[in-house]
Amino acid sequence: MRLASPMMLRLGIESLRNAPFPRRGGQVEPAVVIWVLGNRCIFRCRHCRSWHDSHPGEPAAIMHIAREIARSRCRMVVLSGGEPLLVPNLYQVIALLKSAGKFVSLNTNGYLLEQHARTLLKLGVNAVTVSLDSVEPAVHDAIRVHQGAFDGALRGLRRLHSARRGSRPRLVVRGVIMKDNLDSLHGYVDAFKHVADDIGLQPIHDHEKTSAHQVTEPATLLDPSDEARVRQLVGSLTRQYPELDNGFYRNIPRFLFHPEQMERLALEHCFPILLMALSVNADGSCWSCTREIGNLLSQGVPDVWSSESRRGFLNDLLERGTCRHPCWLHSSVLSSPWPGRLLLKALRSGGR
Ligand code: SF4
Repeated sequence: MRLASPMMLRLGIESLRNAPFPRRGGQVEPAVVIWVLGNRCIFRCRHCRSWHDSHPGEPAAIMHIAREIARSRCRMVVLSGGEPLLVPNLYQVIALLKSAGKFVSLNTNGYLLEQHARTLLKLGVNAVTVSLDSVEPAVHDAIRVHQGAFDGALRGLRRLHSARRGSRPRLVVRGVIMKDNLDSLHGYVDAFKHVADDIGLQPIHDHEKTSAHQVTEPATLLDPSDEARVRQLVGSLTRQYPELDNGFYRNIPRFLFHPEQMERLALEHCFPILLMALSVNADGSCWSCTREIGNLLSQGVPDVWSSESRRGFLNDLLERGTCRHPCWLHSSVLSSPWPGRLLLKALRSGGR
C-alpha cells in the first residue's frame, strides 16, 4: 500500500527532468491534470461543500475542456467531483482521453459504481478511487447523510474487483479522518484489503480558498481536545501497518493541531505537485494551488501552463519560502519532504 503510486512517482521524476518553467522557444506542460468535472453529488456529506453547487455542467463545455486536455502532452488525468458518475457525457470524456493515450483515474463515492462497472472496464479506466470514511456502515452513512451509502460503495468495489482482468483498474480506498469517525477507523486497512490495492487516510481540513476543502458542518472538524485520540489512532495504524509508518502519517497530528509547524514543510511538499499537476474546475478555470491561472474554455493547456500568472505565483512562493496556509491537498502527495526540498534547492541555485 502506498500513497504515491508507481505511476505518480514516474510522472514526478519525468516532470523534474523537465525545466520547471518554460524556456524561450520551448514549452513545458503538466504531467497530470486534476479535473473537477462537476460538483453535483447524490450525497450531502457533512465534511464537504462541493454538493452546494448543483449545476449539472454544460456537455458542450465539458467536451471542449476534454479536447484541450486530450491534445495536451499530460500523461495522467484524474476525473473528480462532486460525483463524476453523475456527469452525463462522462463515457465520451473517458473514451476521448483514452484514445489520446492518457492514464485515466476516477474519484467516486462509489454509490453508483456497480451500475457503471462494466462500461468503465470496457473503456479501460486505469484507476478508481472510492471514498469510505469508516469501517462501520452506520458511521459512514451518517457522514454521507444517506442510509445504504456504505453498502452501495462496497458493492461497486466488489463488482470491479471481481470483473477486472489483472490489476486494471487499480482500486484505491481513501478516507478522511474527522470528529465523526475518530473511533471507527482502527483496522481500516484490513477492512478493505479484500477489494482494494491501495488503502489510506487523510486528515480533514477547512481551507477558505479551496472549495474542495471547505466543510458544511463545522462540528466535523477536529479541535485540540481530539489531539490525544488522533495521536492514538495514528500510532495504532502505523504500528499495525508498517507500510503506513512514514512522514505523511506521522505528520497528521502536527498538521491538524500545530499547523504553524507545517509552514515550511508544506511548501517543500507542494513544489513537486505544483510543477507536475494542473487543477481544472468544472467551469474550465485552471488553478495552481489557490491562484487562478487561466481557463481551458479560451486557452490551451500549454498557454495556461506558461502563463505569467502561474510563473508569478511560483516565483512568489519560491521567494517567500513558506506557505502560511498549508493545504493537505498538495502536501499529501509525497510521504517525504525530500523531493521538494531538493527541488527548491535546485531552483534557488539558478535552475530558473
Ligand atoms: S464528499 Fe464526496 S460523496 Fe460526499 S458530498 Fe462531497 S463529493 Fe459527494
